[in-house]
Amino acid sequence: SVELIDVTKTYGNGSVIIKNLNLSIQSGEFFVLVGPSGCGKSTILRMIAGLEGMTSGTLLIGGKPANLLPPSKRSLSMVFQNYALYPHLTARENIIFGLKAHRIGKDIVEKRLREAAEMLNLAPCLDRKPRQLSGGQRQRIALARSIVSEAPICLMDEPLSNLDAKLRARMRSEIRRIQRKIGTTMIYVTHDQIEAMTMGDRMAVLHDGTVQQIGRPIDVYNHPDHTFVASFIGSPQ
Ligand code: ATP
Ligand code: MG
Repeated sequence: SVELIDVTKTYGNGSVIIKNLNLSIQSGEFFVLVGPSGCGKSTILRMIAGLEGMTSGTLLIGGKPANLLPPSKRSLSMVFQNYALYPHLTARENIIFGLKAHRIGKDIVEKRLREAAEMLNLAPCLDRKPRQLSGGQRQRIALARSIVSEAPICLMDEPLSNLDAKLRARMRSEIRRIQRKIGTTMIYVTHDQIEAMTMGDRMAVLHDGTVQQIGRPIDVYNHPDHTFVASFIGSPQ
């Protein structure tokens, strides 16, 4: 599980980005965060990952205080909005980079790499470096890196935004399938209404650093409790 309790984030110039945020995500749950550009979605993921400090509040991972845990000890993988690939490494090396630190056997590494590359149509790209790849290919490498890690907690920041419609549709169900198979706790950020409606067990709609509504997608869609939610995700009233 991942819990954020009364979390606030202020940047240097005093602007409050996240205000008294409370989120409780169950183990094995697929949780979607949606909201307009600039509302704080990536900031929330970066705080959970430990790449950004919180100004106040508590983070619990698996029920234990995690505010002071270094990122590498948080049992999570993250797909960044800007992919964050190593430019000097090939696609293959980028994908399996994290597995080396975990001393995972060569056979298992090869098997996971092969499966992820096949699922994401990456086989022809594996020996190229990021600068020799398209945006969509880079995005798929970032996804593959997260998938092969089989981390108990997975954070994904708009992981399908750069893919064509057909691949996006396929990846929606693939990500969901893998998440169920591994039992990953997923926190998935998106702008996309179809992803929000079809992928999550629950969703939170964010606006200006606060949660407007949390619930099952169908309930949020049918019963938006705020005009902002209705305009962003709900059915026309
Ligand atoms: P998008 O959908 O465009 O990716 P987002 O919801 O992920 O947006 P964040 O990247 O979390 O939004 O940013 C939230 C707010 O915090 C924005 O107003 C942004 O300008 C501000 N912000 C982000 N990083 C910093 C920083 N390092 N210093 C100051 N302000 C920042
Ligand atoms: Mg963002």
